[in-house]
Amino acid sequence: MRHASQQSNPRDVAGSADVEDFDVPAGSSAAGEPEITYRHIFDAVDQGILIQNAQGFIVSANPAACRILALSESEVRALRRELASGWRLVDERGADLAFDELPGMRALSTGRSVDGVVFGLYLPHLHMYRWISSSSVPLLRAGEARPHLVISTFSDITQLKRQSDLFEMTQRLAEIGGWELDDMRNALYWTSQVYRLHDMKPGSPITESQALDHYGKEERELLRAALHKARTMGEGFELELPTSGALERVRWVRIVGQPLLRHDQVYGVAGTVQDITARKLAEQKLQRMVRSDRVTGLPNHETVMEALERALANADSSGAHPALLYIDLDRFHLINATAGHEVGDRLLIEAAERICRCAAGTRSMVGRFIGDEFVVLLRDAASDENVAALAESIVAAFRKPFVHEQEEFTVTASVGIVSYPRAGTNVRQLVNHAHAAMAEAKRRGRNRSQPFAPELSVALVERTRIERQLRRALDNHELRLAYQPVFALSDGHITGAEALLRWRNRNLGEIMPSRFIAHAENSGEIVRIGAWVVAQACRQWRAWRDAGHALDHIAVNVSFRQLLSGTLLQAVRAAIEEHALPPETLELELTERALIEDAPDAHEIFAALKRMGVRLLIDDFGEGYSSLNYLRRLPLDGLKISHAFVQGIPDVPADCAICEAIVRLADSLQLDVIAEGVETEAQRAFFARHHATSMQGHLLAHPLDEDAMRHFLAANATRH
Ligand code: C2E
Ligand code: CA
Repeated sequence: MRHASQQSNPRDVAGSADVEDFDVPAGSSAAGEPEITYRHIFDAVDQGILIQNAQGFIVSANPAACRILALSESEVRALRRELASGWRLVDERGADLAFDELPGMRALSTGRSVDGVVFGLYLPHLHMYRWISSSSVPLLRAGEARPHLVISTFSDITQLKRQSDLFEMTQRLAEIGGWELDDMRNALYWTSQVYRLHDMKPGSPITESQALDHYGKEERELLRAALHKARTMGEGFELELPTSGALERVRWVRIVGQPLLRHDQVYGVAGTVQDITARKLAEQKLQRMVRSDRVTGLPNHETVMEALERALANADSSGAHPALLYIDLDRFHLINATAGHEVGDRLLIEAAERICRCAAGTRSMVGRFIGDEFVVLLRDAASDENVAALAESIVAAFRKPFVHEQEEFTVTASVGIVSYPRAGTNVRQLVNHAHAAMAEAKRRGRNRSQPFAPELSVALVERTRIERQLRRALDNHELRLAYQPVFALSDGHITGAEALLRWRNRNLGEIMPSRFIAHAENSGEIVRIGAWVVAQACRQWRAWRDAGHALDHIAVNVSFRQLLSGTLLQAVRAAIEEHALPPETLELELTERALIEDAPDAHEIFAALKRMGVRLLIDDFGEGYSSLNYLRRLPLDGLKISHAFVQGIPDVPADCAICEAIVRLADSLQLDVIAEGVETEAQRAFFARHHATSMQGHLLAHPLDEDAMRHFLAANATRH
C-alpha cells in the first residue's frame, strides 16, 4: 500500500482537496474516475493514513489509523497537540525521539518523502507502547517551496517488533549468532553477535578466509573440511572449537552449518555460532572434580595424591603413621596386547576388587594411578609388620589366576612399600620412593613385595644418570667388546669366544655390564645396542677367520628385551649376511628370563632363528625360575651352567649335585653344557670328569680386549 501511494501521484490525490480542511472527495471525480472513490480506499485499507496540513495539524485520519492508535477520529485530529506536549516517542533502539523527528514532521520541514521509519509511541490510554512503521509524502503546489499537505501512511508492527526483539534477545542471551556463506555472491554475512564472538566490530567487512583466521591451525582444517563436505556432499556439520580470538582469551564456540540448497544445488552454507565457553569451562571444572577412575571406579591419581597430602598433614598433628603401597601388575601389557583391551579392563576391575578385599578393615584408600598401577594409602599403619603383611596378602591374592571366558590368565603383582616419614617427608618423595621400591621388586623377579631402602634412592639417581649417558653411548663410540675364550674340556683347545660388552664414558669412567645392562633393558636402549653387539661380534669373527683363526663359535648375549622387540631376527640375519658367517658359528645366549617373559611370539622367533641355522644356548642355567618344560619344547643347542653353582665346587655338596644333575640332564637331551666362571683346577677337573662340553673362566682366560685376544689366538695357534 505504501508503494501504491508512492507510485500513484499523491499530488493528484490531494488535487481537489481543500487545503485548510482536507477531505477526500466522496463522489466520482469529474475526470470520470471509476465507481470506487479515494474515500472508499481511504476507509478500506488496513494501513493508517493521516493527513497533516502546513502547520502540522492532523486534518484527516482513516479508520485504520484510529484503530491502530485506539482513538476516535476527533482524538486523532487533536493528536498534534498531544504529541507535541509530551507523549513519549522512542526510536527503534529505544532512545527518546523528538516530535520533529517524526516522518510527517520531517516531510513537512524538508519537503521530501521520508520512507519506512520505525518508532515507538507510548499510548497513555492503553498504558503501552505501540511500534509504528511509517512513511510520509509531502504535497507541494506548483511554484511553492513548502508543502501544503503531508500524507503519512503507517502500520502497527508491535507484534513483529516484539518477535524480532525476542529473537535478538534470545540470540544475545544464548550467545548465538548467525552466518551465511553465499557462494553465488562470494560473500560472507555475519550477525552482530558473530562479530562480537570473534572480537570484531559489527559490520566490518569479512571474508571466508579472514573468518577462518580466527581459529588455530587444527581447528581451521576441521572447519575447512566441514565446509567442503557441506558444499560438495550437502552434509551438515556441528563442531565445538576454541577460537584464537584477538583478545587472547580462551573462547569456545559451537558452529553448526547446513548447506543452502536451490533446485538441489548447493549455493552456500549457513548456520549459527554459539558461545559455549561457560559450558566448556564448567565441563573442565567438572572433569577436575571427577575424582574416580573410569574403569575401576577407584579414586584416581589426583584424589589419592590429595588424600596422601592430607594424611601427611594430619600425621604431624596426630602422630599417625601413614604408609603407601605401590602395586604394579606384572606383564599386564601382554594381556592387553594378546587378549585385547576389553579383557584387560575386566582384569583391572577384578584386580581392583582383589586389592580392596585385602585392604578391607584397614583405614585406607585404594586408588588407581595409571594403567596397571594401583596404590593403597594407609592413613595410620600400626607397624611396619602390618604394612608388610598387607603387601604380602596382595601379592598372594594375585597368585590365583584370573578367569575370562574359560581362559586363565596369570598376572602377578609387584608391590613397593614406603612409610612416613622414614621413606620420605613429602608426597612426591614418598610416591617416587614407593615406585622405586616397586621397580626393585620387579628387578628381583616380580611377584613379591619390597620395602623402600635408602640405597634405592641412590640407585634411582644413578639409574637416571646412566640411562641418560647410555642413550649417547653408541653414537659416541663409547662401547666396545671384550672376548672371553671358551675351551673344549676334552682337549683344552679353543672352541670359541663369548663377546662381552664394555663401556667407557667420559663422565662415568669404565662401567661394567652388571651396572648398566639392566638400565639399558629398562630404557629399551638394549635393543639398539644389542644389534650393534651382534654385528660387531660377527665382524670380529670374520677378522679372526681372515687372519687364520677359524673359531667354531662366537657367542653373543641376547637380552629378553631384544627378543620382545621383534627386531632380533632382522639384526641377526643382517649381521650373518654382511660378514658371511656360517650360521651355526653364531651362538645366542638367552637367559631364562627370555623364556618366561611369555612374549607372545617368542616361540616363533626361536623357531625362525633355528631355521636360520644359528645356535641357541640358555645362559646362567639353573638361576632361573621356570619349569624345565621349555627344555623339551624349544629348539636349544646348549646350556651354560651358572657361575653361581660352579663357585660351590668342590666344597658345597648341593652345588656339586646340581652341576652333576645339569650335565646329565643336558646329556640326555643331547645338549651341549658349558661351565662358566671356572676359576680353579678342581672345578675344571670336575666338569671334565662329568663330560661337560666346554668351559670358560679365569682359570684359562679372562675376557680380553680385541688386541689381547688376537695375541692370545696367535699364541694358542702356535702352541697347538
Ligand atoms: P654372563 O653372560 O654370565 O657373562 C659372564 C660374566 O662372568 C662376564 O662378566 C665375565 O667377565 C664373568 N666371568 C668370566 N669368567 C669368570 C670367572 O672365572 N670368575 C668370575 N667371577 N667371573 C667370570 P661381565 O662381562 O661383567 O658380564 C656380566 C653380564 O653382563 C654377562 O653375564 C651378561 O649377562 C651381561 N652382558 C655382557 N655383555 C652383554 C651383551 O652384549 N648383551 C647383553 N644383553 N648382556 C651382556
Ligand atoms: Ca653369557
